[in-house]
Amino acid sequence: MRQLGAHVSAAGGIDKAVERVAAIGGNCLQLFSGSPRVWAKPGLEKYPLDKFFSNREKYAISPVFTHALYLVNLASDKPENIRKSFDSLKYELEFDSLVKGSGVVVHLGSHQGRGWEASKEQLAKHIDALLKVTPDDSTFLIENSAGQKGKIASDLHEVRWLLDQAELSGKWSKNRFGWCFDTCHGHAAGYRLADPAKIPASEKSAYATITDLDLWSTLRVVHVNDSRDPFASGRDRHANIGEGNIPKADLQFFINTPEVQKLPLILEVPGLDGNGPDGENIGRVQQLVAC
Ligand SMILES: [Zn+2]
Ligand SMILES: [Zn+2]
Repeated sequence: MRQLGAHVSAAGGIDKAVERVAAIGGNCLQLFSGSPRVWAKPGLEKYPLDKFFSNREKYAISPVFTHALYLVNLASDKPENIRKSFDSLKYELEFDSLVKGSGVVVHLGSHQGRGWEASKEQLAKHIDALLKVTPDDSTFLIENSAGQKGKIASDLHEVRWLLDQAELSGKWSKNRFGWCFDTCHGHAAGYRLADPAKIPASEKSAYATITDLDLWSTLRVVHVNDSRDPFASGRDRHANIGEGNIPKADLQFFINTPEVQKLPLILEVPGLDGNGPDGENIGRVQQLVAC
């Protein structure tokens, strides 16, 4: 059986997130450790871990990923922003260890017009520093971006470069650093999800690019989302599966490649009623993987 789940709310306690994903038919989970739009966090001792673990066991939910705050920007030129981002990510990595998670999915942020070349060393330095001061069983995962102006990791070469810096450091175990591919973001950033054989030479293929950059072994999770916006639009708006601009056959090809078959799939879609991922979207992905 495929690992297929969703990002669900942890309102009322992280144990409730496990119940929610089980209720819609998922078997793996992504959550926020707190509110995604504020810096403030509860003390790590406040989480109902016993109930969380007993629910994970009861409903057989694994793996679990944490999504970092939307406020994080490790490419900022403002020291105050970097400090807050660093402290927040340190907390999330400690949380990942506490919940026996499989990684913290991070939007690295935006260079705000300064350019990738001007900000890449700073990014590598902060990620390295974070991994040095956080638990050995926590994992930092870069998420690809949708191609919005200035956003880091819209271009998969940037993911490759950052992962290469980690391999040079040698201060912490290599398997603590990987990445997450979001299908909506990839499509919006100009990577076709279709079979590379069916893509015109003028367009980029997600599958071929990940292969050429040797990025499969560090890919830990795939966010399966349709896109409200056209190909290469540079916009990050998720749609329910089959209701957006990603051709069904393209999504089907990508999630059934041998490399992606081994990976957990996490939905981050609006849901039919706008309350987030639901059983209907889980069912639509199940149909795509079954065909
Ligand atoms: Zn995502
Ligand atoms: Zn998104």
